[in-house]
Amino acid sequence: MINASLKELSAALAQRKISAVELATLFLNRIERLNPALNAFITTDREKTLAQAQRSDDARKVGAGDTVAFQSKAPLSGIPLAHKDIFCTQGWRTTCGSKMLANFVSPYDAHVVERMATAGMVTLGKLNMDEFAMGSSNETSFFGAVKNPWDVSRVPGGSSGGSAAAIAARLAPAATGTDTGGSIRQPAALCGLTGIKPTYGVVSRYGMIAFASSLDQAGPMAKSAEDCALLLTAMAGFDTRDSTSLERPAEDYSRDLNQPLTGLKIGLPKEFFGDGMDADVRSAVEAALDEYRKLGATTVEVSLPNSALSVPAYYVIAPAEASSNLSRFDGVRYGYRAPEYTDLADMYAKTRAQGFGAEVKRRILIGTYVLSHGYYDAYYLQAQKIRRLIAADFSAAFEQCDVIMGPTSPSVAFAFGAKNADPVQMYLSDIYTISTNLAGLPGMSLPCGFGNNNMPVGLQIIGHWFDEAKMLNTAHQYQQVTDWHSRMPEGLA
Ligand code: GLN
Repeated sequence: MINASLKELSAALAQRKISAVELATLFLNRIERLNPALNAFITTDREKTLAQAQRSDDARKVGAGDTVAFQSKAPLSGIPLAHKDIFCTQGWRTTCGSKMLANFVSPYDAHVVERMATAGMVTLGKLNMDEFAMGSSNETSFFGAVKNPWDVSRVPGGSSGGSAAAIAARLAPAATGTDTGGSIRQPAALCGLTGIKPTYGVVSRYGMIAFASSLDQAGPMAKSAEDCALLLTAMAGFDTRDSTSLERPAEDYSRDLNQPLTGLKIGLPKEFFGDGMDADVRSAVEAALDEYRKLGATTVEVSLPNSALSVPAYYVIAPAEASSNLSRFDGVRYGYRAPEYTDLADMYAKTRAQGFGAEVKRRILIGTYVLSHGYYDAYYLQAQKIRRLIAADFSAAFEQCDVIMGPTSPSVAFAFGAKNADPVQMYLSDIYTISTNLAGLPGMSLPCGFGNNNMPVGLQIIGHWFDEAKMLNTAHQYQQVTDWHSRMPEGLA
């Protein structure tokens, strides 16, 4: 059961081989046993989870007990998943990995949480993450770092590291994540999973704690592209409560999974295949490209001339937006408040000094600086112009190809502490993922082999705006002829 696909789990529920309560119990027991060593979950609540699973079982009994018909109408019903702790979840603690929200219980559900619940999915708990989603290694979490299940001396990636570790260790069959600069794709790569960041605006940000609003986007993480397609179909859709949510007809993201790849044109940006990538990552990515050629695809070199500017532009724009978004944590309305202070200004200062960690403070300082009078034109405005150029580079590249491929991360998972002394080294972990967010494009990562120390390597697929179905098709066809996505770390059975 722990290695089953979502489709297989759905079939098992339809055929009454297992109930939703039994399935949730199985995963809750694994969490209880294995989470202490991994620290993937911040919060679990057996009673709440089992009550939700019971509701799914009750719904399945209605309608003369035709469970097959029920499950075909609600394919995800009864299947457990866990939410990154950035999504507000009614009645559950929602911490965003921060001391600031360590005791915050949300009075409402995020759109994504609501959607998954409407689909009948059962919440297993809330997943650890970098504080306010700022990080690439999960080491910035107030609740402690998450361990990579493939090697517990290494990071799982970030900021959705709890999501990635939970699925890799089979503590959950699927999870939600968010990706502002790579936080779904990079941890998926480092933990051997599949994850997709949709086109900006496809999934509502309502109830998703804001980091950099013009870049933040939610998406699913799971073992395979087929699973991600099912989850994205349930997750996506217009929402009036998010002013950047796009009003488009609903899509079935599974619709093209079985299309052959004959004639598919894969663009390989020469900037992604330069010196920055480790040799072990390069050989796994190149072997994957050979596999694609065998499937009937052709490759063409493309260029994204401004991609070297993506990390610098991102580290102006993202902190600028973060400094504004995080001003709401002032100790007045909700969250942490310093226990001792002299007056109101002192209360604000002490609350924020005590409530935020070092990386969050660094971002607030940078963001406030680049937005200040005198520096706005020199930094923020320039970064916005670069952002436009990066999007134009992609538009030009997509005239020559259907999808773009390259590595997700320049290296496999690194050891704890390896990049903590120099924040720029940490920021460069996202060198291949950040430009997608700046352009608003969809991107995904899928496992394509193993590198040094037997750690997983991720292949990145970038699609044109709204081409999620084609990207998932491209990934699924590869997963029909390879089995990297079904490997699991040893010793966790
Ligand atoms: N690692 C990047 C950062 O620290 C991206 C994080 C994210 O996508 N949430 O900002």
